[in-house]
Amino acid sequence: MPEAFSDRRVLVVGMGGLGCPVALALAAAGVGTLGIVDDDCVELTNLHRQVLFDESMLGVPKVDAAAPSLEKFGVRVERHRTRFVPERAVAIAMSYDLLVDAADNFPTKFLVADVARKLGVPVVHGSAERWSGFAFAVGKGGGPCYRCVFEDVPIGPGAGPARNCNDTGVVGAALGVIGAVQADLALRMLAGDALADGTLFQFDGLRGRGRTSRRAAQKACPLCSDDQVAIERARYLVTN
Ligand SMILES: [Zn+2]
Repeated sequence: MPEAFSDRRVLVVGMGGLGCPVALALAAAGVGTLGIVDDDCVELTNLHRQVLFDESMLGVPKVDAAAPSLEKFGVRVERHRTRFVPERAVAIAMSYDLLVDAADNFPTKFLVADVARKLGVPVVHGSAERWSGFAFAVGKGGGPCYRCVFEDVPIGPGAGPARNCNDTGVVGAALGVIGAVQADLALRMLAGDALADGTLFQFDGLRGRGRTSRRAAQKACPLCSDDQVAIERARYLVTN
């Protein structure tokens, strides 16, 4: 097993279409400990995009189905068979060096962003829908962060429920691309590559295009400003 990352601890939130390829790549790269968080069980409709699972695992909790495949690489797997919710998110995340947001819904993605900022650890977000997706790396100090780009959970008239993969559909290959880039960004940040911070990779699978840019922090961002009231307000919105 490679030694460079053998003492590093990474938490992957969500073991679905993104969590599977991210965790696989991090395990193969020699990350010492992977925490994996999910409260779902494997379903037949998952199999085309969640590459760690097969038909023999239907009905099995995803963290239990995924762990043996990851452990083959020598990684220590810590299973968190639960939802990543405000009441326990900090307790779950506090022992990890880096968080990976592989969640499929907005409230969880903002919560991962807030928890990373609170704990002062880097986070790599990822999202995919239909043929497209993005990966976004945020350093331990934020600035720019997920809230600089997306501000807050969609709420109010017309916003409707937050969409996820089951609602909109997603191509497994697009998830594989985004998951691989998330793992790449995570490893770069673990290795101390400051250029990874703020990197946004956008992928258009229908046109075979990828684009990398760097985002700037927004002064009004509740997480990157020094305004403690604004930070608390952001957490209030996530919690409620
Ligand atoms: Zn921000």
